[in-house]
Amino acid sequence: MDYDVLILGGGIIGCAVAYEISKYNLNIAVIEKDYDIADDVALINTAMIYNGVESEDTLTAKLERMGNKMMDTISAKFNIPFKRCGSLILAQTDEEVDIIQGIYNRAIDRGTKDVLILDPEYIYEMEPNLNVDIKKALYSKNTGVICPFDLALSYGEVAFDNGVKFKLEEEVIDIQELTKGFKVITNKNKLTCKMVINTTPSENYSIGNEKEVNENKKKPIMNGNDIDNNKGVSKYILLDNNEKTKYSHALFMINSKGERTYTLPTMEGDTVAAISIRENVSYDEVVKRVSKITSVVDDMNVKMFLDWPFFENPMVIDDSSIDEGLIQIKGKHYGQVTMTPAIASIVCESVVSNMKCKLKKDFNDKRRENYKFRDLCDEERKRVIELDEKYGRIICGCQKVTEGEIVDAIRRPLGARTVEGVKRRTGAAFGNCQGAHCLNKVVSILARETSKKMTEITKDSKDSNILLCRIKEFNSM
Ligand SMILES: Cc1cc2nc3c(=O)[nH]c(=O)nc-3n(C[C@H](O)[C@H](O)[C@H](O)COP(=O)(O)OP(=O)(O)OC[C@H]3O[C@@H](n4cnc5c(N)ncnc54)[C@H](O)[C@@H]3O)c2cc1C
Repeated sequence: MDYDVLILGGGIIGCAVAYEISKYNLNIAVIEKDYDIADDVALINTAMIYNGVESEDTLTAKLERMGNKMMDTISAKFNIPFKRCGSLILAQTDEEVDIIQGIYNRAIDRGTKDVLILDPEYIYEMEPNLNVDIKKALYSKNTGVICPFDLALSYGEVAFDNGVKFKLEEEVIDIQELTKGFKVITNKNKLTCKMVINTTPSENYSIGNEKEVNENKKKPIMNGNDIDNNKGVSKYILLDNNEKTKYSHALFMINSKGERTYTLPTMEGDTVAAISIRENVSYDEVVKRVSKITSVVDDMNVKMFLDWPFFENPMVIDDSSIDEGLIQIKGKHYGQVTMTPAIASIVCESVVSNMKCKLKKDFNDKRRENYKFRDLCDEERKRVIELDEKYGRIICGCQKVTEGEIVDAIRRPLGARTVEGVKRRTGAAFGNCQGAHCLNKVVSILARETSKKMTEITKDSKDSNILLCRIKEFNSM
């Protein structure tokens, strides 16, 4: 057998599972079709860590609560920022008061203790910038925010340092069952393994084929990474760091159709305002709806306007074929980052009991250190520059990202190969100018460090080249 375990898909869940099982004496590989791991994790480097209160589905709520509880230990271990900011679901009308009362009762029935219904005087004390009329709010103190890409990368890097092989730019075409184990066919290889953990959509594979299973059972598809199953669209407005729209909690409003309007404090100190709705609406409509929480949205303060499908298909860990060696993680959900540590830990338990493997004695649970120049004091900056003068050259002025950080992001385990990869790892080009001043420098450093031509450097995926061709034959670019 080529491997003990093959993990299909290098998203945050694939990386987290790889990390958990790399603690054991197993030969493991992750197969990812993209240039980078966790490519889809977020558009903005802040994800909400839910605590299950908002979820109608009981299993999802359980996984969210479990993941939420594990987040302190994980973020401390990987040294990544995680803030338990707490959340308030606001009610402005009697109908909305009934909705939050229903959510509160459901949470109490599920045994959740950290929720409270608050009167307006407490709400305005907690959020002095809130200047819309509120009748009641449901407070959950354990909700938090985290950098999802840092989390996914940490899982991936530590797994890599503990011997997991990452096969990037390799697409799984099929999984076939052998008398013992499996054959995984990719566009580059045919690999055999004892066990498969599949986190990719599985409609076209010979085994674990969701479409076939569902047709045979004459039941509708319950979940699966099927884009048609998503429930709507999320529209995000990233607001500049502005005192008037600064809130310390995540603020939500939920209407009777289950549509949400919310604001989130980002890890960088900005505010994200967003709506998750059933039908597509214009930017003006988004601003109008968001204004129910942030009474003022000044266009001058809008840094980014983005939209993304809103998924609410419950996550399922399907280990019904564990005896044959197959685990499938199905579903696509807006709280997937929150559930990741819980899912990885459950999957790891199944793998360990199935493979009867032992803990490695030399497992290294530390992520290699990296410096964030903008977070260092002057004394620390001086010391880092003395170690490597590249930390003294600012490439992105808005975010204060140095050449040293970009080079480290490229040279680290599972290093960046694309502009998006550098952006996500360092924060370069995420500032007010959105890369107008530094994008060309990032492309040039990437080309130098990866021994490629500048015209070969891509944004994030195949054929997304930043520069199409040379327009003049200079000796150098
Ligand atoms: C804008 C946005 C905001 C979000 N906000 C939050 C939030 O606030 N809180 C929260 O908890 N969650 C949030 N999420 C959810 C979460 O980030 C994503 O759902 C999560 O990243 C999905 O992780 P995954 O590993 O399961 O799936 P994916 O990232 O989809 O992983 C699957 C991987 O498999 C790869 N793959 C697919 N097919 C193949 C193949 N045939 N061969 C090889 N590889 C393949 C894909 O390239 C992908 O990398 C948000 C997501 C987005 C996009």
